Amino acid sequence: MISYGEFADNCKRLEERIRKAADASGRKFEEVAVLPVTKTHPVAAAQYSAQYGFKSVGENRVQEAVEKIAQNAADIEWELIGHLQTNKAKAAAANFARIQSVDSIKLLAKLDKEAAEISKTQRVLLQINAGRDPAKFGAEIEEAPALLECALGLENISVEGLMTIAPLDEDLDTASRCFANLRNLRDELENKFSAKLPELSMGMSGDLERAIAEGSTVIRVGSFLFGEREYF
Ligand SMILES: *Cc1c(COP(=O)(O)O)cnc(C)c1O
Repeated sequence: MISYGEFADNCKRLEERIRKAADASGRKFEEVAVLPVTKTHPVAAAQYSAQYGFKSVGENRVQEAVEKIAQNAADIEWELIGHLQTNKAKAAAANFARIQSVDSIKLLAKLDKEAAEISKTQRVLLQINAGRDPAKFGAEIEEAPALLECALGLENISVEGLMTIAPLDEDLDTASRCFANLRNLRDELENKFSAKLPELSMGMSGDLERAIAEGSTVIRVGSFLFGEREYF
């Protein structure tokens, strides 16, 4: 694990990247939030994030996150960014301030029920496979209207926007197309449902400039902040 000083340096370098990308696309630095991704790293990664002033961190597996949260070592909120199975919806609702990986009506219904049980409004993003990557989770673009319609009708669910993961491809134009698809879909859905979907969670260490150019409001950054992971 890197030191806090190294982490703070990485945060500064990340801020420079964001500032440049925002400038280049006529956007404001403040429009792009960072979600540090602490998966595979010790709980110190969440402590560093809290110390630096981040409000939340991202984890991709429920079990790993629950173990870290139980240590109560960092004053920070936790967001789920990895695939969620319905049988873990209860633990997810109990532990995550926001779940970015909601991709089915079945999962929405289960989360609504579990959130009701604990008198919580569960904040979510709908994960869309905007790059049409067979290897990625997320609802298909065509399924998004039905998914949103369902979410808007659930009392204990609050939909804040959309999330996507770009296909693995050395050609960053592939990521750009994926991110543009997500933004266009968001605009269409806002019109169709007269709903507000302000959040576009897109962009990671390798493609965040492309995501910012296409309108990202949250970039999820792991390796650039914490160094390479030992496993996925
Ligand atoms: C791991 C992960 C990230 C962070 O990836 P880096 O390339 O390390 O920045 C972002 N989003 C999701 C969904 C992830 O699983």
